[in-house]
Amino acid sequence: MSKCALITGITGQDGSYLAEHLLAQGYQVWGLTRGQANPRKDRVAKLIPDLNFVDGDLMDQGSLVSAVDFVQPDEVYNLGAVSFVPMSWQQPELVTDVNGTGVLRMLEAIRIVSGLGKSSGGSDGHGQIRFYQASSSEMFGKVVESPQSERTPFHPRSPYGVAKAYGHYITQNYRESYGVYGVSGILFNHESPRRGAEFVTRKISLAVAQIKLGLQDKLLLGNLDAVRDWGFAGDYVRAMHLMLQQDRPGDYVVGTGQMHSVRDAARIAFESVGLDWEEHVVVDPALVRPAEVETLCADYGNARQGLGWKPAVDFEELMRMMVESDLRQAGRERDHGELLAAASW
Ligand code: NDP
Ligand code: GDP
Repeated sequence: MSKCALITGITGQDGSYLAEHLLAQGYQVWGLTRGQANPRKDRVAKLIPDLNFVDGDLMDQGSLVSAVDFVQPDEVYNLGAVSFVPMSWQQPELVTDVNGTGVLRMLEAIRIVSGLGKSSGGSDGHGQIRFYQASSSEMFGKVVESPQSERTPFHPRSPYGVAKAYGHYITQNYRESYGVYGVSGILFNHESPRRGAEFVTRKISLAVAQIKLGLQDKLLLGNLDAVRDWGFAGDYVRAMHLMLQQDRPGDYVVGTGQMHSVRDAARIAFESVGLDWEEHVVVDPALVRPAEVETLCADYGNARQGLGWKPAVDFEELMRMMVESDLRQAGRERDHGELLAAASW
């Protein structure tokens, strides 16, 4: 019998790639969607016609219990979150509620629907609903060692990172308290043509496309020296799935082990269409963050050895893929008046 998965955050970047990956493995896939007439639901439904949808919100405990009870999934992937770090200084309470307490609510839904009580503490979770939590390298924040592995201490630098650390620990706690098969993937930044337009790589690829077509001249950026370990989202969803197929639950760092600066990202993207980044990029101090995560780099040795996972797309290919996709869209926008970021997938 085919397995059944429930994905929160189905309308986001990772949700769509993960759904495609699981459908290709023969899964029945359900996406949790929230709100009235959410336009992103229509977008992902059009992209992936085989998806099923169920209503629910990570801020509403009852809706999660109902969704898990209705779908009866074998695996739950909790990808739903407010994922843009600067939002977490503007609306820290909301971000804590969705990204932190939301994880607890989903674990409670699984516990309630599975009928788990305290007596199941210490079991290995066989036969239960398996749970994946989207943890983040932002939990490392002010790094004390490089590269970062599963053993590196956390020092989050934003309300987003703090909320993700709570989600990480509560997943571990439900594993230890109730025997839930719960894992956290500590994923480093991952991008794609489906990345939100507010993130720096997509902001760059969208601007490069506009500038190449003569529709824009300047690109305002913040800290050009910030360094990230950027990978391709399509590679990272394979790791999520592998984590839930192991005999015993465990947490894994997922990244590429390669570091690049925001300056490198701009240079590669502009060069890919024959432009000089220095003629177009302007630093705007207003875009520099109140508490910055300067550098991140993954030691993904455990994922490589334990899961047999490695990334397939490198950073240069990734930036070129994103620019090419946005260039095609920008051409369509110019010719047909479509909305660029919304129409790109
Ligand atoms: P996106 O921002 O693209 O997607 C976020 C998703 O969360 C959307 O589907 C959104 O749905 C949903 N969501 C927001 N609020 C709620 C809520 N209250 N209840 C239910 N769903 C909600 O993020 P990504 O796909 O890039 O990231 C997926 C996960 O991985 C996130 O948890 C993110 O924090 C984490 N992560 C991402 C990294 C990256 O580099 N991409 C790195 C490390 C971790 P809606 O359409 O309803 O708004
Ligand atoms: P994050 O690592 O999840 O916060 O992903 P982002 O893509 O939003 O940011 C990555 C890095 O790029 C951070 O260190 C930002 O400070 C830096 N950065 C520099 N300029 C910009 C910008 O204009 N927009 C964004 N989003 N980030 C920028």
